Amino acid sequence: MPIMSSDDFSLHTDECEQVGDGMPTSNLPDEVTSIDDLECDCWKQFDSLEEFT
Ligand SMILES: [Zn+2]
Repeated sequence: MPIMSSDDFSLHTDECEQVGDGMPTSNLPDEVTSIDDLECDCWKQFDSLEEFT
């Protein structure tokens, strides 16, 4: 499940080492249409958004 950081509102995976206790979010923002739109390194383990949506 993606997690939205309470500090900077960027999205992370639930296993992201940088977030820990972020706020879970059930839906990605509309503007996020590909892995490339997610800046955190934690998404690099995925090949595409389809792997977790
Ligand atoms: Zn992350």
